[in-house]
Amino acid sequence: MSEDFDVDLFVIGGGSGGVRAARIAAGHGARVMLAEEYRVGGTCVIRGCVPKKLMVYAGRFADEFADAAGFGWQIQPPRFDWAALKASRDAEVARLEGIYGRNLAGSGVEVVAERAVIEDPHTVRLLGSDRTVRAKFILIAVGASPVREPLIPGAELAIDSNGVFDLETQPARILVVGGGYIAVEFAGVFAALGTKTTLLHRGKTLLRGFDPEIATALGEAYAERMDLRLGRTVERLDRHDGAIRATLDDGEHLDVDGVLVATGRRPNVDGLGLDRVGIALDARGAIPVEADSRTSVPSIYAVGDVTGRAALTPIAIREGHAFADTVFGNKPWCVDHRLIATAVFSTPEIGVIGHNEDVARDCYGAVDVYKAAFRPMKATLSGRNERVIMKVLVERASDRVVGVHVMGPDAGEIIQAVGIAVTMGATKADFDRTIAVHPTLGEELVTMR
Ligand code: NDP
Repeated sequence: MSEDFDVDLFVIGGGSGGVRAARIAAGHGARVMLAEEYRVGGTCVIRGCVPKKLMVYAGRFADEFADAAGFGWQIQPPRFDWAALKASRDAEVARLEGIYGRNLAGSGVEVVAERAVIEDPHTVRLLGSDRTVRAKFILIAVGASPVREPLIPGAELAIDSNGVFDLETQPARILVVGGGYIAVEFAGVFAALGTKTTLLHRGKTLLRGFDPEIATALGEAYAERMDLRLGRTVERLDRHDGAIRATLDDGEHLDVDGVLVATGRRPNVDGLGLDRVGIALDARGAIPVEADSRTSVPSIYAVGDVTGRAALTPIAIREGHAFADTVFGNKPWCVDHRLIATAVFSTPEIGVIGHNEDVARDCYGAVDVYKAAFRPMKATLSGRNERVIMKVLVERASDRVVGVHVMGPDAGEIIQAVGIAVTMGATKADFDRTIAVHPTLGEELVTMR
């Protein structure tokens, strides 16, 4: 590539998308520099998927202890130690951060630990050292951050999902506001770990956009595990007697030790210099890109949450990989965003691939729906009131499976496996001729008639 540039690729942001793009591009022979102002690993590794899942695992032991008694185990009332979990979780995150850094270095990527902003279509300024770098291509992979809106009086008393990982002590009582992935996942964690948890959401069901039966079933399960308030809003937060007092829309007061606001995330574009190169944002504040992740400026690309396509780690990784192969590897390909498998690590867990019933009917006309609802075998001896729900949606004209929805233990694992079949275009007949693995939860997917 041209010697007029200091590097072939400058990546802004060391999260999932940026790291993958940098490493693949370097593997294709590109000279790559990556700037990360905080910690390499980004949201997923440092303050998202990974530490969150560790906390989900911690919470799940509560059900395991309850089930164990049904299987003859005699267990002293278990005690949970927040500080011990925080210490081991933080150590694991630091270990992974080190691996990410070493992998980048091992791939030949130069990492600079400072903030980078765009000066012109081929120039990035590093604010810490106040120097500029000329790059043939710039990749924006800066992610997104939690929003705290609406800015109710007293909102500064609340924490966001980043703040959960900083909590030194376990709150005895917490109010979680929101009904999306983050709110339901953390409400589930806090409730399982013994915090008196209120989950408050403005909608009538949790997880808007998910299959309504699954979302309703999660609401029913959550109502047994915590104080669930649907169709409610918080008007203000105040300090009161050493606690935080939340005033709800009907004037009710809720006194808690912590408030977690999880009402969505917004792309991290402030101060990035997009105006200097004429990149306009879309209505959600995200950077619009073509299918190949190119922005309106030919030398600048963007991947991951900052593009507002699907705010999921595996999508950012794939977008970063496709970008690097396309621009530096002479192997052009685009990410298919139509069929995305995803899991919500609530307890019970949810796994989904494909459309929900309403959308499937809009897309395909006649759709057959197969359902199963049952208590998992593991909960039978303890009598714990756990339900599994599974739905398979089939386009009648072609017999193709166009949606699978699971709520229950290991739903994410089940969806990952069945997602291969759905991605390959499996038909209901293909599901039916698959031999069941007995006894498992997943076998229900191949025995529905
Ligand atoms: P979501 O966009 O998923 O959910 C936001 C929630 O906040 C919705 O319930 C929304 O309600 C509510 N809300 C929005 N604005 C307001 C407001 N002004 N007042 C009250 N409530 C409001 O955001 P999250 O922060 O939960 O997660 C962001 C994204 O991160 C997810 O969409 C997902 O892509 C990703 N993620 C994925 C995870 C996974 O894969 N397991 C885990 C965590 C995050 P309404 O529905 O009424 O709009």
